[in-house]
Order: sequence, then C-alpha cells, then structure tokens
Amino acid sequence: MEAKSFELHDIVEMKKQHPCGSNAWKIIRMGADIRIKCQGCGHSVMIPRREFEKKMKKVLVKANQE
Ligand SMILES: [Zn+2]
Repeated sequence: MEAKSFELHDIVEMKKQHPCGSNAWKIIRMGADIRIKCQGCGHSVMIPRREFEKKMKKVLVKANQE
C-alpha cells in the first residue's frame, strides 16, 4: 500500500462526509494528532495520525503548489 502524503494546510477529502454536507477538510495542525477543520461549517476535530491516514481519501488541494 502506498503511503499517503499530506502536509499542513492541505485540503483533504475524508471517506466519511461531515453532517453539514461538506467533505473538504483543511489540515490546521500536524503532530501525533492531526487537527482538521471542515471547510463547510468550520467545525474542527482532532484525530490520531494513524486514524487520519485510514480515514483520509485523498488530498484535494496541496498547500505547496509551486
Ligand atoms: Zn462541516
């Protein structure tokens, strides 16, 4: 299985949609736990990195495009 790469401030898509209808989350904190913020309603959640890697589907927008 390929390792997923993601960085701080990337916009990611999760496997499960947020109840508000949005499925885009921004990574706002990286560490042993990762904090992501829903781009639809602004709700933020903290989840362990391992769990995040399992639940993340793909990176929608890379923070560093250049
Ligand atoms: Zn939301």
